[in-house]
Amino acid sequence: MADKVNPYEEMKKMVDKAGKTLGLEPGLVEVMKSPKRELSVNFPVKMDDGKVRVFTGYRVQHNEARGPFKGGIRFHPQVDIDEVRALASWMTWKTAVVDIPYGGAKGGVVADPKQMSVGEIERMTRRYASEIGIIIGPMKDIPAPDVNTSGREMAWIMDTYSMQQGFSCPGVITGKPREIGGSLGRPEATSRGLVFTVREAAKKIGMNLKGATVAIQGYGNVGAFAHKLIERDFGASVIAVSDSQGGIVSEKPLKYEEVWAHKKKTGSVKGFPGTKQIANEELLELKVDVLLPCALENVITKENAGGIKAKMLGEGANGPTTFEADAILAKNGVLVLPDILANAGGVTVSYFEWVQNNYNFYWTETEVNTKLDQIITRAFHEVWDMHEKYKCNMRDAAYLVAVKRVADATKLRGFYP
Ligand code: NAD
Repeated sequence: MADKVNPYEEMKKMVDKAGKTLGLEPGLVEVMKSPKRELSVNFPVKMDDGKVRVFTGYRVQHNEARGPFKGGIRFHPQVDIDEVRALASWMTWKTAVVDIPYGGAKGGVVADPKQMSVGEIERMTRRYASEIGIIIGPMKDIPAPDVNTSGREMAWIMDTYSMQQGFSCPGVITGKPREIGGSLGRPEATSRGLVFTVREAAKKIGMNLKGATVAIQGYGNVGAFAHKLIERDFGASVIAVSDSQGGIVSEKPLKYEEVWAHKKKTGSVKGFPGTKQIANEELLELKVDVLLPCALENVITKENAGGIKAKMLGEGANGPTTFEADAILAKNGVLVLPDILANAGGVTVSYFEWVQNNYNFYWTETEVNTKLDQIITRAFHEVWDMHEKYKCNMRDAAYLVAVKRVADATKLRGFYP
């Protein structure tokens, strides 16, 4: 299904394109395409059977022109250096689009935690944290969760780093449990940012979200909360959802509370009473007003882009649409809200978490959500204005906003020495 694409090469194409439109000098564009620092580590972990296994991990720090490095840590068997480079650079563009004072970074370990015990995962996480401890830190590089990591791993990393420093350092990592300095509102933040961008885009194209039909691919952190919020806050009708086991479609709106309870009980949205079963690919081509891919990368490709009937596509996932599919969607008039804008709510509330840690003063959930709304709404309109000014699609416009911000910061700082 997925196109064979190298995400790092795709990222470079986007930056070249933005650099050309903005008339930037080629040397400056080269700086912005290149990761500043890359650390590869091979480290031993004692497994439960008493044997020692060597794991490989990376931390790529892409750019820090606008502030400390920021980006998640992924544990996955397919992690490789080019994927980590691409993910690190996407963080640079994402933090720039929403104008929070960070650069971009990403980390990963080549491992399949689903095949490991909790003890093995903990030892691997702590040793990896110790290995990258030489380049991370609350003022240097602040990791966060990504695929197969969560608050549990963030707590271990915070503890490992703190043990080495000799005092508690909550600001070294975000996405922590609330009890040790996590922020209220973080679990729903990515979905909340996503529905805010959908709300603003709907106003622009004259779509009434009340009763608008919605299909959501992926029913994890991002997809399920998107269902909850778009139904509760805007009265939209979610009529199809899916997860890795398959999808369901219904003539009547699906209620979040009921679908979530079913998923919790059975492990999947499949088999929810009163619905028809569909394949994941079919969900993407349903005739709906809003399509929200919230699962994987490269699901909308040149093969199926022509079949997408939604008026608006909000990218909850990172990289769900390939470069070629983007052109087809634009030609067919589908309004795409690009990932670096549409799913930036997560890193924005991670930023709030870090600010609260450094201040040692904590906000209410209403304060978090209000500030998030202000940042995402402002970013949406800045991207929309760019889209009108340059008559380009929203993804190109988001890159123009981001690349310009990083270029301006780089020029102001100058080239050391
Ligand atoms: P998650 O693991 O909580 O959920 C992923 C969901 O996708 C699960 O329901 C899974 O069953 C489903 N899925 C897997 N394969 C599928 C397939 N072939 N078809 C349909 N569904 C499938 O992950 P998440 O945190 O919700 O992240 C989802 C996406 O959003 C990822 O691309 C991630 O990088 C991106 N993202 C997440 C955050 C965040 O704060 N969690 C922030 C920004 C971007």
